[in-house]
Amino acid sequence: MTAMPALSPRMRGIHASPASILRRRARELRAAGRNIIELSSGNLDFATPDHVIAAAHAATRRGETRYADVDGTPELKQAVRAALLRDHYLTYEADEIVICNGSTQALFNALLATLAPGEEVIIPAPYWAPYLDQVRLTGGTPVIVPCRQNNGFKLHPDDLQAAITPRTRWLIVNNPINPSGAVYSPQQLSEIAAVLLQNPQIWILADGLYEHVVFDVPCAPTLAEIEPRLKPRTLTVSGVAKSYAMMGWRVGYAAGPVALIREMIKIQSQTTSCASSISQAAAVAALNGPQDLLRERAQMLREKRDRLATLLNDCDGLVCATPEGTFYLLVSCAGVIGKSSPDGKTIRTDRDFAAYLLEHADIVVFAGEDFGLSPYIRVSFANSPSAIEEAGQRLTRACDRLQ
Ligand code: PMP
Repeated sequence: MTAMPALSPRMRGIHASPASILRRRARELRAAGRNIIELSSGNLDFATPDHVIAAAHAATRRGETRYADVDGTPELKQAVRAALLRDHYLTYEADEIVICNGSTQALFNALLATLAPGEEVIIPAPYWAPYLDQVRLTGGTPVIVPCRQNNGFKLHPDDLQAAITPRTRWLIVNNPINPSGAVYSPQQLSEIAAVLLQNPQIWILADGLYEHVVFDVPCAPTLAEIEPRLKPRTLTVSGVAKSYAMMGWRVGYAAGPVALIREMIKIQSQTTSCASSISQAAAVAALNGPQDLLRERAQMLREKRDRLATLLNDCDGLVCATPEGTFYLLVSCAGVIGKSSPDGKTIRTDRDFAAYLLEHADIVVFAGEDFGLSPYIRVSFANSPSAIEEAGQRLTRACDRLQ
């Protein structure tokens, strides 16, 4: 056997994202004939709206099949500016906006453009796992700040203050939060902003990808809107994936100071050239088209949330709160830790519990460990009502069988 040429030391400790691993596992098990219910997915079960699909068709017929401008089509940048004004009262010029291949790329380009080796990025836990490895890939150091349960798993200003060092370059604030579904109120964001105003060397990455998947307010607030003095060093990031059920179209965007946006555009010009021209035309239709569907879909999700939360809270050993946003329930599984499965295996961790559910109930969930919070699992309620009922029955049986 010939030895493989070496990999970069940069890849040490870098993992495939937990979501991608679970997606593949679910596909393999389905192919093997198992009747899998995926409660792990970051996909919504809604279709992309018809008028958005029609706009993509029309764009291809008009010949919009060539490379787009690196920073995005003028039409989409204009639609993003209008959306930021409409939803957050934020004014950005066209050169303060960049369109990316999903918000994932916006986040990575921003970190790559700014971090020197060993510089720190504060990441409140529980967190969306890719933040960590994105920081590591750039040579930076993730600094995880556990968020208190009695603060609704949101970052407490005192904990932020304590985590700041001379090496801190970024704070990531995700609102609403994946995986807890918690939503920061304007007051809570102001308290975080007060700490940041005292620390002018820190950039702020405001990830609002789920901003419209909220149940109690029209749209989740974002830091630059709450504290305009932070705007010159805030990157406001969002995308069409979760608002308009456009996960696979891969369109995200970032708005921020020109000096940072310009560097992000350079990276994009050398790596991906531009986001898909066809997807960008679709995103224009999503952002400029009727917005009522956001509230209608949130209402449907709310009903699913309430049903699945009731079913889960009826399971022996599981407890979950009702989230104010996203389509995830963060479920404490402390009550099953230490119990044994019928085949004699002890459930020691949330990962063991997730493995047990896969093995014995054909249900895929995320282990909380992947989000920096144990012992918890993350369960998606973006599923059909029948899948939710079936999942509830399987979970009840699976928990009852533990001793
Ligand atoms: N931020 C958060 C919190 C997410 O959960 C996700 C995807 N699930 C992303 C960013 C990236 O999404 P996309 O690249 O599809 O815009």
